[in-house]
Amino acid sequence: MTDTIAALLASASPDAPAIGAPDRPWLSYAELADQTARTLSALHSAGVGRGDRVAIVLPNGPEMASAFVCVAQGAVTAPLNPAYKLDEFDFYLSDLKARAIVLPEGYDGPALEAAHKHNLAILHLSFAATDPAGQFTLAVQGTTGLAPDTAPADADDVALILHTSGTTSRPKIVPLLQRNVAASARHIGASLALVPQDRCLNMMPLFHIHGLIAAVLSSLAAGSSVWCTPGFDAMRFFGWLDTARPTWYSAVPTMHQTILQRSARNADIIARAPLRFLRSSSASLPAQVMLELAATFNAPVIEAYGMTEAAHQMASNPLPPRVQKPGAVGIAAGPALHIAHEVENHLLQGGTGEVVISGPNVTPGYEGNPEANAKAFFDADGLRWFRTGDQGSLDEEGYLTLTGRLKEIINRGGEKISPLEVDGVLMDHPAVQQVVTFALPHASLGEEVAAAIVLREGQEVDEAALRAFAATRLAAFKVPRRIVILPEIPKGATGKLQRIGLAQKLGLAP
Ligand code: ATP
Ligand code: MG
Repeated sequence: MTDTIAALLASASPDAPAIGAPDRPWLSYAELADQTARTLSALHSAGVGRGDRVAIVLPNGPEMASAFVCVAQGAVTAPLNPAYKLDEFDFYLSDLKARAIVLPEGYDGPALEAAHKHNLAILHLSFAATDPAGQFTLAVQGTTGLAPDTAPADADDVALILHTSGTTSRPKIVPLLQRNVAASARHIGASLALVPQDRCLNMMPLFHIHGLIAAVLSSLAAGSSVWCTPGFDAMRFFGWLDTARPTWYSAVPTMHQTILQRSARNADIIARAPLRFLRSSSASLPAQVMLELAATFNAPVIEAYGMTEAAHQMASNPLPPRVQKPGAVGIAAGPALHIAHEVENHLLQGGTGEVVISGPNVTPGYEGNPEANAKAFFDADGLRWFRTGDQGSLDEEGYLTLTGRLKEIINRGGEKISPLEVDGVLMDHPAVQQVVTFALPHASLGEEVAAAIVLREGQEVDEAALRAFAATRLAAFKVPRRIVILPEIPKGATGKLQRIGLAQKLGLAP
């Protein structure tokens, strides 16, 4: 069997449901295959084939999921955030060397203007909510004028191009091969023991790796089903639980926290939900939140460690009867994990250091960025390793605990402080709902510790009390010199909390 998306889908039962959505009929695996054939023939008639890059700009939902799966079997997919402005579309379409773009029928936004500017073949996607097969159709506008390579994608072809979130630097372009995404989808399915009867509720954006691979592709690789919502909506979440009857869902910690806030008044829905487990990834899940979630949903909470360059998952906590360790991001889920100390080309186990990974899911390298590749990749022990930029430690049982991102470690006059450690302590205060610890520029020390805090509804506490609380648990040099209490903590463009630059954003530094 070759390692392609097509091969992943081949073993599912043709009549089984594959992709669904609120108020839509289910798309079965047979219908998805039919949809794929029609999509590839539309691409070919637009002069687009194997190796050609197709931007996908669609609202989150079942069409976005199936367009990704279909296009990726005969061309290269590049899902883009539909909220981008003209300049961003302009940049990404040219950076990606896009040949074609998929847009919703009737779309008249900036992606269309950018597509015209770059002379792309345009495929207008439409669907009728009443179509009993739940399929979309593609209307071709213009062609590339090229003779497309109509051969199906090979394991070494690029399947997906995404950019990193830009939390620590300018977003980098990450090409992922068919065999990278196939390996990741299989690893996730294996670590979650997914079976055809499982159903995933997807609320993650489908222009990021988390939703695309952990929700969509791992579900399809297991012959199970994925129900695609328009995106996260805390007000509709419990209704979706009741309608779609998912056996699991995967979300980022901030979503889990919002869901928890509304859980008491939806206890009846939770009690009858068939959830087998919940999954959390993409950012650190505070131990307190994990324990509260597990108790509220009476289901194990599986925290996993993912990143764009690894086609998402690098490590995952195991299912029961094995232990889910609060605060740990799991054990290597397929790829090899090591902790590298400062020594180049020499891997050591134990201690705290940079997390380095090697595995069939890892990208061959950033596109058009030899400088970043030279820094990120190295060879050792006969394997090719990728430096994640994350700092962590492995315990005797192989569980990885992240202590922060190397670029986010606070350097207070030479003392290195993990912002995650400070977050964890402040999260234990009963009035605190969310914490982001960050570096505050300081004249003599270089950096000082500061924290931004959101309080729980109806709670009141002042900065001095919070600092006194932190001082009971942390050495004096780690206690935040400044604590700011805010209604909300500003996020980066892709919704991730960004420690770097937060002092400037909050007006605490020039
Ligand atoms: P950039 O690389 O451009 O700075 P980014 O690293 O945020 O952006 P992503 O690939 O979206 O881009 O995110 C991967 C990162 O998310 C990981 O390197 C890690 O720092 C963080 N992360 C993922 N899962 C977890 C987790 N369970 N706990 C803590 N951090 C996590
Ligand atoms: Mg990164």
